[in-house]
Amino acid sequence: MPTQPAKKDLAAQAKSTRHGPPPAPGTRPAKPVNLYNFWTKEWLAIDAAAPPAPATINRFLRDHFTNKPAAMEPRLVAMLLAAASHFHSDVVDVVSGFRHPKYNLILRKKGHQVARDSQHTHGNAIDFYVPSVAAQVLQTWAKAQKLGGVGLYPESGFVHMDTGPIRSWSGE
Ligand SMILES: [Zn+2]
Repeated sequence: MPTQPAKKDLAAQAKSTRHGPPPAPGTRPAKPVNLYNFWTKEWLAIDAAAPPAPATINRFLRDHFTNKPAAMEPRLVAMLLAAASHFHSDVVDVVSGFRHPKYNLILRKKGHQVARDSQHTHGNAIDFYVPSVAAQVLQTWAKAQKLGGVGLYPESGFVHMDTGPIRSWSGE
């Protein structure tokens, strides 16, 4: 008989205890929120009770053009989770997180509506939508959070949120 537990048993145990104790009887376990990155086609499931390490979140929200991550403002991810909860969705689609200054410049040269010193280049902004929620409805919710800037892009169907000064605008 082996005296050490098999590696696969340890892995199974680590997996089963990773999310902490099971919920009390009669309560529903918190559903994870699944973030989807439009550019990288990656998914990141976030369990609010056991959130992933910042490095995992930063990697998920990296600039897709240079493939470089940055330290993302944690209040933005909290906003994604809050939006998912408010609109009873287990999916939130991320259109843009960190934007490397190099990529930001390319977008500007292509004539996109991008600020020169965009909050995205500082890891302080996120563009997202919640499936089946109209961007205008999401914008109203986002403004009520009073986090900072809120931009509505009705044609593209997403909302921008940043941690800069409180202001709002509408794009295309
Ligand atoms: Zn944005």
